[in-house]
Amino acid sequence: MKNQIEQCPKCGGNEIGKGRQAGDAAVFPLGKIISLGSAIIHRICTHCGYVIESHVENPSKYKG
Ligand SMILES: [Zn+2]
Repeated sequence: MKNQIEQCPKCGGNEIGKGRQAGDAAVFPLGKIISLGSAIIHRICTHCGYVIESHVENPSKYKG
């Protein structure tokens, strides 16, 4: 696998930081009563703040 260079589609910056969003903003699986939410990992341009992509930390929780 190649180590791809990420570039911000907004400003062209290539310094991409990672952020973890948790706590009250956690995402919970729809329709599941007993379960904890997952934190979301964001990849953020450190120049303009644009969020390039987001994904949940534990995607298997969201399987039907
Ligand atoms: Zn940017």
